[in-house]
Amino acid sequence: MNCTCNPTKRYKDCCKKAHQNILSVNTAEILMRSRYTAFVLANIEYLQKSHHSSTRPSKKEKKEILQWAKSVEWIQLEILKTAENTVEFKAYFKENGELHVIHENSFFCKENGHWVYKKAQ
Ligand SMILES: [Zn+2]
Repeated sequence: MNCTCNPTKRYKDCCKKAHQNILSVNTAEILMRSRYTAFVLANIEYLQKSHHSSTRPSKKEKKEILQWAKSVEWIQLEILKTAENTVEFKAYFKENGELHVIHENSFFCKENGHWVYKKAQ
């Protein structure tokens, strides 16, 4: 299976490493990519783990995110710009047959010794 964050790589050589061990993630970009792939795979546990505790979704929101992630068709991730703590990206998906894009400049930091997503800038 090719990785959804980067179709030129195999999932097992790409985001699977992050999904199996978040401590192996050593840049904000890798964390961002692994979170996109976690959305595609509806891996809600990883999405929670890779989210800063102060901004992490509640239990109720977690359910809604999971349902939403499963209901849409993920198309592609495009990384526009990366810096040490930020990643600007576009994530394309189809919802009810219509193409949508999330364009965000995300802020990442470390918590409990690993990278986490904190918020949109
Ligand atoms: Zn990947």
